[in-house]
Amino acid sequence: TDEEASAKAAAADADRGAPTIFDKIIAKEIPSTVVYEDEKVLGFQDINPQAPVHVLLIPKARDGLTQLSKAEARHEEILGHLLYAAKKVAEKEGILDGFRVVINDGPTACQSVYHLHLHVLGGRQMKWPPG
Ligand code: 5GP
Repeated sequence: TDEEASAKAAAADADRGAPTIFDKIIAKEIPSTVVYEDEKVLGFQDINPQAPVHVLLIPKARDGLTQLSKAEARHEEILGHLLYAAKKVAEKEGILDGFRVVINDGPTACQSVYHLHLHVLGGRQMKWPPG
């Protein structure tokens, strides 16, 4: 499909070190609604929300983390930081009673932006299994 082809092209671009749209969001060159920020990570509303709460949580420095499957030992700290930040996002957004954290990895899992991001979703009854 077109989606698969563009995800594969995006993954190849990322492997060459190409920037993504998230760099512009981090630099505030394109606007986003920020819901959480600290020195290491940024959380902002997804432009195409799949639930009443849908926040993307990203490391400010990509540092080779185009996707989770590229993680190396040096990334352990930021990975833990992101997961704890996801809890803080859920708390801020009032969904601590029930929320979901998702990482899509690679074209097969429908990853479209090759800068690691956690989706924090909630505010409605979630279904399982996901599509
Ligand atoms: P993925 O499919 O890679 O797991 O998730 C990428 C997410 O980024 C999608 O949910 C998509 O809606 C979101 N997204 C793509 N471009 C933008 C943008 O310019 N602004 C914001 N806020 N979200 C974006």
